[in-house]
Amino acid sequence: MTSQKILLEYLVDKVNLVEGPVLELGLGNGRTYDHLREIYPDKEIFVFDFAMNCHPSCAPDADHMILGDIRDTLAFCAPRVRAQASFAHIDIGSADPTNDLAIVNWLAPLIDERMAVGGFVLTALELDLPNFELLEKPEGIHPGRYHIYRKF
Ligand code: SAM
Repeated sequence: MTSQKILLEYLVDKVNLVEGPVLELGLGNGRTYDHLREIYPDKEIFVFDFAMNCHPSCAPDADHMILGDIRDTLAFCAPRVRAQASFAHIDIGSADPTNDLAIVNWLAPLIDERMAVGGFVLTALELDLPNFELLEKPEGIHPGRYHIYRKF
């Protein structure tokens, strides 16, 4: 199992104790979304990306696919997403460290706004989230590779 899969499954029971939908930032080919809908059958999952380029079998329905630049759509998604989120999986890092610094700068306050108290964020990006604690990861996960944050 990949670290990402282990971490997604590690968080399921904890996330299910929190009310609110799941946010998938970065649909890509839909692999993670496909996994999320399998492990969260009772939660609404909203997916964000510039475009829908996944295999049709992994495509979210139109109500749950939010198209556009996440920098804009996350800021204005409240009328569609309604409740604050119990879980956000963020998979939009670039291969460039400077670009990643720019991303985390606009992303952190938007994520803070969209998350419910007690909600979890799983990301490879290091986010400056003053209202969140950084959680320990389960054994065997590379220390710097992923970060789990929880809003308090
Ligand atoms: N989790 C996905 C999967 O399982 O296939 C992989 C996601 S892929 C690494 C990153 C995705 O994030 C790309 O599809 C890209 O278009 C999207 N993305 C990156 N930055 C974005 C932004 N600012 N707004 C919208 N989508 C973005």
